[in-house]
Order: sequence, then C-alpha cells, then structure tokens
Amino acid sequence: MSDSISGGCRCGAIRYELALDRLPRVYCCHCRDCQTWTGTAFSQQAVVPDSAFALTAGAPVLFELTNPSGSTSRQYVCGDCHTRLYNTNSARPGIVLIRAGTLDASDALDAVLHIWVKRKQPWIAFAQDVPTFEESAPADVFQHLVMGEPR
Ligand SMILES: [Zn+2]
Ligand SMILES: [Zn+2]
Repeated sequence: MSDSISGGCRCGAIRYELALDRLPRVYCCHCRDCQTWTGTAFSQQAVVPDSAFALTAGAPVLFELTNPSGSTSRQYVCGDCHTRLYNTNSARPGIVLIRAGTLDASDALDAVLHIWVKRKQPWIAFAQDVPTFEESAPADVFQHLVMGEPR
C-alpha cells in the first residue's frame, strides 16, 4: 500500500496524487450551478493546497469561466471522458478544489459541511451534527471545517 492519496478520471487518462497524510475533508454544495455541472444532486469538494497537488498522468483540458463577482474559475476536465476533476479560482490563490468523487478512496470521505442547502433536492436529509448553511458558509467556518487543523 502506498501512502499517497490518489485519484483520477473515469477513463483513467488523467491521474493525480495528493501529498497529504490523511484524506481531505470535503464539503457539499447544493447550489443549482453545482447540480447542473455535476448532473446530480450536489457537488462534493475537497480543499487542498496547490503545493500538495500533483498530476501523475495525462493533461487535463481547461475550461475558464468568469464568475459574476469577476473572479476567474479554471475548471480542469479529462479531454477524453470529460470527467470534471478539479478547479482553481483567482479569488482564492494557492488552493485547488478537488471534485472529491474522483478520489480513489471516495467511499471513505467525511463530509463536514453542506452549503447552499436552500437549493437542496427535497429528499436529502442531513446528519444532526454536520453544519449546514442556507447559502455560502462564512470564511472562518469554511476554513476551520474544511481546510482544517486536525481535530
Ligand atoms: Zn478520462
Ligand atoms: Zn455550488
């Protein structure tokens, strides 16, 4: 068993590794954009410092989008199978947002925060002890829960 935490796209052309000593914690976003983008009920994302992220196979295709706030979102996608793997945002330098379902160990993730729950699909219920926010989470909450110090 390797120590490294790895992931990749559905067809296997793109592979990446995270230089972390544990799986990153993840948050779920239930906004309509995420529903559209994932084609499912919510997105599940891990916040990782870009210094801990490395591509190990393939070269993703880039899709750039300017947000209403003026920041630039850069979305990295497999050019073959079109899996959306990760993104960066000019408003948050130094951070890579991994689409957590692309992690090999996606069955072992801990979802610690739900945002934009006012847009959630009606059948979704949350565990009592997991914080939820109607819209975005305040920056300090987000920082603490997701990027977190070990608990
Ligand atoms: Zn692929
Ligand atoms: Zn969203």
